[in-house]
Amino acid sequence: MAVVTLTLESAHLNQIIEHARREQPYEACGLMGGRNGQVEAIAPVPNASRSPQTSFEMERQAMVDSIIQFQRAGQEVVAIYHSHPQNAAVPSETDIAQATWPDAIYIEGVL
Ligand SMILES: [Zn+2]
Repeated sequence: MAVVTLTLESAHLNQIIEHARREQPYEACGLMGGRNGQVEAIAPVPNASRSPQTSFEMERQAMVDSIIQFQRAGQEVVAIYHSHPQNAAVPSETDIAQATWPDAIYIEGVL
């Protein structure tokens, strides 16, 4: 696997943390848009999973809308984030099975 550097400002990190706190006890998920590994925007996406306490599935239309917004700003998806409100910050089996986006970084965090 290639080594990739992701740069994000604390303001973006705070947006993600706030989003994750709002969604508790459910997992929060979303996209990071930017260029060349530099995060320029955070797009929270609703979690459409039927078991949102332990998994996430990005709501399709909101996800597509976010990607279109990124593209209009000359950005692309540089990373996908989601929170683990109750588990460790390691990928679950479902996470690994579903991590199928090419060229995207998957980020997990525990609150
Ligand atoms: Zn997960």
